[in-house]
Amino acid sequence: MSDDRYETWPPPELDFDKPTIARAYDALLGGKDNFAADRALAEYACQHIPGLKESAVENRKVLVRGVRFLAGEAGIDQFLDLGSGLPTVQNTHEVAQSVNPDARVVYVDIDPMVLAHGRALLAKNDNTSVVTGDVRDTKAILNHPDVLRMIDFSRPAAIMLVGMLHYLSPDVVDDVVAAYRDVLAPGSYLFITSLVDTGLPAQQELARITRENLEEGWARTPEEIERQFGDFELVEPGVVYTALWRPDEPVDPDSLTPGEQLGMTGIGFKKP
Ligand code: SAM
Repeated sequence: MSDDRYETWPPPELDFDKPTIARAYDALLGGKDNFAADRALAEYACQHIPGLKESAVENRKVLVRGVRFLAGEAGIDQFLDLGSGLPTVQNTHEVAQSVNPDARVVYVDIDPMVLAHGRALLAKNDNTSVVTGDVRDTKAILNHPDVLRMIDFSRPAAIMLVGMLHYLSPDVVDDVVAAYRDVLAPGSYLFITSLVDTGLPAQQELARITRENLEEGWARTPEEIERQFGDFELVEPGVVYTALWRPDEPVDPDSLTPGEQLGMTGIGFKKP
């Protein structure tokens, strides 16, 4: 890891009294890298949104299934994980490198705590790097020295916007995602999970709570999520509720819990 902007602890940007997306999500997942303000927001959101915790866990599970598919069946050995979050169990590099030890992973997150915690986790892993940056600044991310060093965009790669698309506002989302699609070589993949709007009140309510407390938060219809894949070909089963995306055990689509109806998942393939 070469980003040395945060040699000091705590990083200058860190405000303990204001929740952040990464820390509040960590609190939802039962992690330890969060502060009172993050836990308070997570609790408040859970009181209003039935199944929110389960939905966060479901999102982590599909990250594992998706990366396993990409590193295995799809043969991808380079991953750009945008909005990667704080390290937790079964991080992208652990899943990818358990399938292919040579797989390279670059994590990008706006929250400086991700870098601080990633450093410790990745001290001995030359194939993994953490970059602090804003995914919306596509030029800066795609030209970051660590990204250029680790990812060869002339070969197939996977770009991940897992649990991240809903932090891109309607005025930027199309251009941002298109910039990432465009940089990918044929044979590459785009992996998206997102808060969805299928008409259930809790979905827009979660978007509202997120926007009010964490600045961004947008629930999108399945069609709007699908649009982000451009002309990529969706791999089976398409954009579906996350629990239904290649589940390890069969799931009955007619008995999804409220938490299982908060997010959708899809993976698209850039055709040669
Ligand atoms: N990808 C992980 C997962 O699915 O488990 C973490 C998802 S977490 C809900 C969303 C992450 O996106 C947070 O860590 C947050 O800091 C990051 N994030 C939100 N907006 C961002 C932006 N504009 N640029 C970079 N990271 C961002």
